[in-house]
Amino acid sequence: DNRIAIVGAGHAGGTAAALLRQHGWTGPITLIGDEPVLPYQRPPLSKAWLKGKADAGALALKHDAFYAERAIALKLGATVAGADAAARSLSLSTGETVAFDTLILATGARARGLGVPGHDLPGVLALRSAADAERLKTALATSGRLAVIGGGYLGLEVAASARSLGVDVVVIERAPRILARVASEPLSAFFQDYHQRRDVVFECDAEVAAFHGEDGVLRGVALADGRTIAADLALVSIGAAPNDALARALGCACDDGIIVDSRARTSVPGIYAIGDATRRPLPLYEATACVESVPSALEQARQLVADLTGAPAPAPEAPWFWSDQYDVKLQIVGLPIGVAQTYLRGDRDSGRFAIFHLDAEERVQAVEAVNAPAEFMFGRMLVADRRRVSPDRLADATIPIKQCLA
Ligand code: FAD
Repeated sequence: DNRIAIVGAGHAGGTAAALLRQHGWTGPITLIGDEPVLPYQRPPLSKAWLKGKADAGALALKHDAFYAERAIALKLGATVAGADAAARSLSLSTGETVAFDTLILATGARARGLGVPGHDLPGVLALRSAADAERLKTALATSGRLAVIGGGYLGLEVAASARSLGVDVVVIERAPRILARVASEPLSAFFQDYHQRRDVVFECDAEVAAFHGEDGVLRGVALADGRTIAADLALVSIGAAPNDALARALGCACDDGIIVDSRARTSVPGIYAIGDATRRPLPLYEATACVESVPSALEQARQLVADLTGAPAPAPEAPWFWSDQYDVKLQIVGLPIGVAQTYLRGDRDSGRFAIFHLDAEERVQAVEAVNAPAEFMFGRMLVADRRRVSPDRLADATIPIKQCLA
């Protein structure tokens, strides 16, 4: 029997185990994770769950019995501390060893830290795991003012959730604008305005120099320009770093993420990698990237299952992502690579619009849809199929989106 071991019982690892059984894999499967809980979804941790609108049970990918019924052996609360590619064996922090024929690395990513003085004060938190989220939720219950360090999606979602819990929020961003790496300028401006109208304060172009505390309690965030921003709680949300140390130890090629092909194979035969830990190909853009999103992790899980079961490789998907802040649902498809022209469809002030990014041949490269599910859904097809559109019709929101093809 071909024994499969999966390291990392997160969204990618849990999904891969379930899909393998669904596609008829009969060999032994062992799913190993260092968190002491069943595989769960992280997206609600900054959104519905943080606001108290989803309970812990709703986060689990599958219920307990699912794994037993499908003969998926779970080893939770166990860190894979060492691995031997030649001997095909893993050593666990529990003292056990697990033998494998095929290995799937789904080790995810960790929150990047901010190595400034005071970063270890009790009121300076990060958010990656359910345990982190518990700490944040407990702290928010008694916090007067939260400083969010980093104006990316995660930070802004926590800012929105904290406002709905009645906590004052200041967002501190090093770049000149929020979402600089991940959104177009008009979309950044929309979100900044939306948050400001709900009394969130923004400090852009601001570099954190230190966290100040008194008697072990956070009092403020010192900026490089000499100012101190008052806060009794801080969330450091400045991005994630792929967990690729185990892959390196196994001899897999890595470049800020485990390098995989479009079948989720690493450079070492018999070792696959999926999810946030990877640097993956994006065939639609002839590029590679670390894509930290649930849809990407799920696509890679399907790729590896196809490869292992001998099924044809699934057609490449257009990368997509979502974010929920207040009553705004943002959905993004594609990447703004090779963009020559940008069109706004709908009215920004109405809170329902979409921004289309086209290349020089008027093919859709990316769509940022705000409360605009039809534009997003159609955008997925446009991006994946590299369709050309008519910019004039696109910019006229009275013309149905499906009639905007060139
Ligand atoms: P993870 O889910 O991080 O799982 C990896 C697991 O491996 C972890 O449990 C880790 O502890 C474990 N592990 C690592 N090393 C070892 C080891 N040596 N031994 C044992 N176990 C190990 N994505 C979206 O698409 N939309 C969103 O709205 C969104 N919101 C998010 C909100 C938050 C708060 C966070 C944290 C993430 C969000 N994401 C979102 C990103 C999404 O959750 C990730 O893309 C997804 O979880 C990736 O799955 P993964 O299995 O690769 O990694």
